[in-house]
Amino acid sequence: MRSQQTIKERVHFEGVGLHTGSYCKVTLHPAPVDTGVVFYRPCKKSSMAVNISTVVDTTYATTIGGDRVQVRTVEHLLAVVSALGITNLTIEVEGPEIPILDGSAFEIARLVMDVGIKKQKKAMPYIKIHQPVVLEDEHGKVAAYPYDGRKITFRLFFKNHFLGEQLLSFDLDRDSFVNEIAPARTFGFLRDIEYFRANGLAKGGSLDNAVIFSETAVMNSSGLRFKDECVRHKILDSIGDFSLVGLPIEGHIVADKSGHTMNVKFLNKLLACSDCWEVVSGQTQQSPYPVFSYSYT
Ligand SMILES: [Zn+2]
Repeated sequence: MRSQQTIKERVHFEGVGLHTGSYCKVTLHPAPVDTGVVFYRPCKKSSMAVNISTVVDTTYATTIGGDRVQVRTVEHLLAVVSALGITNLTIEVEGPEIPILDGSAFEIARLVMDVGIKKQKKAMPYIKIHQPVVLEDEHGKVAAYPYDGRKITFRLFFKNHFLGEQLLSFDLDRDSFVNEIAPARTFGFLRDIEYFRANGLAKGGSLDNAVIFSETAVMNSSGLRFKDECVRHKILDSIGDFSLVGLPIEGHIVADKSGHTMNVKFLNKLLACSDCWEVVSGQTQQSPYPVFSYSYT
């Protein structure tokens, strides 16, 4: 039986949001079985369950929203939650965005690992892929294939740029995530910064929380953490985005130049193709997760 899990104690972190530039505070609270992952904004007394129906924007970050309230840039935190196997958690957020910290998910992963993860006395349902599901358009491709385990393969290709092609396959487990994926930082290009500023994006961005590339070099004096840091960060983003389905996915996700928008489109296609997967519960009662009672049209 795969157990549901939560954290052993509260975890707190705070800092500036990448896009809003607002100073935000986050407290992660342990939660009982069958809670799922829930965002809570105390100022509005508003809760939002993490599932695909609460995604309201995917422009350069993933934003979820509910009754009168939104939380931006949830993907790095959700990647940690998913990769570490945390299934029940209340995420209290003071402010409109999850802090970007150093641009990676390493600090959040370290804080969670420091307090520890607690197994709970109930099985964790998960989605098992039985038949391929493929979404492809002129920008890229995402597919899910049957596989015993959780695997992601990602390919990036930067045309006419020294970064060129980056390709990485990654079997998701707790330790390899913390060491190989969580430290990879958000990245961007010098040529795009004017556009971001003109469109009210990346107000909190700096060389302290993002890797910035010119046409010929890395702008950060400390250089890169990994030679292929960009594709590792895209895998981090994808783990967070794919957790929006509400349950872990057992299968091989293959992505080519995908981003938040395409990831969410793919999840909708996956959910609509109900012959291609099943929910493996390990229990006889109905899944407690409301995501599967929605209509995906
Ligand atoms: Zn990211």
